[in-house]
Amino acid sequence: MSKTKEPVMEEIKHLSDKNEFFRYFEEQKLALDLQERKAQWFDPVPRQFLAKDKAATTILFGGLTMAHDYLAEGALKGLGYNVKRLECPDTGSLRFGKEFGNRGQCNPTYFTVGNLIKYLHHLRDTEGKSKEEIVQNYLFVTSGSCGPCRFGTYVTEYRKALRDAGFDGFRVLLFQQQSGVKQATGDKSALKLDTSFFLGFLKAILLGDILNALGYRIRLYEVEHGSTDAALASCKKYLYNALYKRKWLIPALIKCRKELQSVKVDRTRVKPKVSIIGEFWAMTTEGDGNYQLQRFLEQEGAEVDVQSLTAWILFLIWEGRYDTPWIKLRKEDSGPKGLKGKKPALRLKMLAIADRAIRVMFQTYARVIGLHDYHLPDMDEIAKEAHSHYNNHLRGGEGHMEVGKLILNVKKRKVNMTISVKPFGCMPSSGVSDGVQSLITEKYPNAIFLPIETTGDGAINVYSRIQMMLFKARQAAQKEFDEALAEKKNVTSGASKLIRAY
Ligand code: SF4
Repeated sequence: MSKTKEPVMEEIKHLSDKNEFFRYFEEQKLALDLQERKAQWFDPVPRQFLAKDKAATTILFGGLTMAHDYLAEGALKGLGYNVKRLECPDTGSLRFGKEFGNRGQCNPTYFTVGNLIKYLHHLRDTEGKSKEEIVQNYLFVTSGSCGPCRFGTYVTEYRKALRDAGFDGFRVLLFQQQSGVKQATGDKSALKLDTSFFLGFLKAILLGDILNALGYRIRLYEVEHGSTDAALASCKKYLYNALYKRKWLIPALIKCRKELQSVKVDRTRVKPKVSIIGEFWAMTTEGDGNYQLQRFLEQEGAEVDVQSLTAWILFLIWEGRYDTPWIKLRKEDSGPKGLKGKKPALRLKMLAIADRAIRVMFQTYARVIGLHDYHLPDMDEIAKEAHSHYNNHLRGGEGHMEVGKLILNVKKRKVNMTISVKPFGCMPSSGVSDGVQSLITEKYPNAIFLPIETTGDGAINVYSRIQMMLFKARQAAQKEFDEALAEKKNVTSGASKLIRAY
């Protein structure tokens, strides 16, 4: 224990407030020399995207479903940006990610960082661009968050991997889920985050969800193999053009409806319905990042129920609403980022309007294109169901949603089986939700639930586990079908008897 030296008047007379006094005495106790304080290590992330560079800069992005990435490209091009969506990450991307990334990262980091580096290598090695040209004329936009899981470290991972791969200085703009894009702001910024930007992006998200939902509803029942994908490819083009030319979407949606209605289907096939939940990226990607789970399930004869990105936006709004009533310190908390002066009632109103507007937009597009009886999740209901098993204040990953969704899937008989997919060692999903799910499956023994972790290899093990569970799901679907038939027969024979009696 170091001995505290007597404070010298000369040393303390410049200290102006009690915090500085406190710090001074604590530093003295720990024998820290005020004069030799070291600067904290800081790794700068280049984020400048200036208006003067807009015409020469290509914005790279990706990581959602293929439909979303494609439509977002159309919307952003329509706003005058040079945009290029990256291909869906594959095992080649994973190899690049593992080569240049740190050990112990989440799978999505390896896949997405590796996918970017793979593309930059392509620009350099195949297209013959120099490193300087690439760094100057390209940038990447990705989403980030403050965590609390490893998501908060992604942007540093990009930086490290880019530097080690020979692209030091490459710009990564971070789209913070709660607070927008982090980059140079003001008049000099090339990114104009105005209503047109958010509306264009939101439309791409809603339309991508709608097309995906339609695809999974139709593809399994198509009579002519490949006809659904062909119709969807045409629909994507119509919608891309409408977004790119910033036209009214309704005529494009009507054209899409005609395309999709021309697909012949046989709805008498009995198929188990399988819901995919889990970690956001693992359940969203359609490539090797989740062993092409959606396509595999369809090949095995299951109707897939995917989570929409719209639901994720609604969850972010719910988080805002849920946290707002806790602004009870707004009188006392007067710091620079404090709560003083905040207006919770107004904030709640704005969030409620945003929630309503998104739902109305979604259902309007859905009805016109022909997606009927599609229900966006009620976020309060999910939170309520999960509450007694998972604290609604816990954040990171999907929060309480995985638990709430499984309970609702079973209680409301929404699907025959639920798969929860997550990267290996995912903190919120494997570490917390799956622990809780073992209790849920005890409480609801008829739940057919399968948690799977992805590592990039070991696909055969995953496939065989799914196949085993699907056997049960098929039996459950058949039973449900037989019960519905029996019920229908009873109703019909009862009605015939009544008619004869009269
Ligand atoms: S949710 Fe899981 S996989 Fe995603 S960043 Fe967090 S720890 Fe990693």
